[in-house]
Amino acid sequence: MVREIVRFPNPVLKTPTQKVDVIDEEIRKLVRDMFETMHHAEGVGLAANQIGISLRVMVIDTTPKKDSPPTRLVLINPEVVSAEGVISYKEGCLSFPGLTLEVERHSKLKVKALNLEGEEREYNLEGFPAIVFQHEMDHLMGITFIDRVNGLRRRLALEKYSKLQKQKV
Ligand code: ZN
Repeated sequence: MVREIVRFPNPVLKTPTQKVDVIDEEIRKLVRDMFETMHHAEGVGLAANQIGISLRVMVIDTTPKKDSPPTRLVLINPEVVSAEGVISYKEGCLSFPGLTLEVERHSKLKVKALNLEGEEREYNLEGFPAIVFQHEMDHLMGITFIDRVNGLRRRLALEKYSKLQKQKV
């Protein structure tokens, strides 16, 4: 089921999500809905709080980005194990329609998370999938990409976003 994507400044986007205790049918349904919602919106990553569910769950599917190998992952209670390098990329966010922001991230990550079977897995992510992971991990911690830029850039981005929101009404 395609769910409605929550837009900034909805408070659920600023609230750190809760760890998942049990992977049951409710979580499996949530993950299915997250993939459907993300694909419908033509996104490459989605955090559960972006559909209003404050749980530490993210999905990634970089298939639409043709110039990098496709990465499709379900990450429950994800954590960063190690990070290195720096990469800068113009990011978009389904919770900020129309806005892009150049954000600096780590270029290489080792992360761990539970999969849908409840097994802990480690993943090495590099380049675009690493960027998507860090963007979604921020969401799960109650941080949005606007918090990753400072001062004037942040103010201009917020002004642009509020104009875009008004145009869409
Ligand atoms: Zn986002």
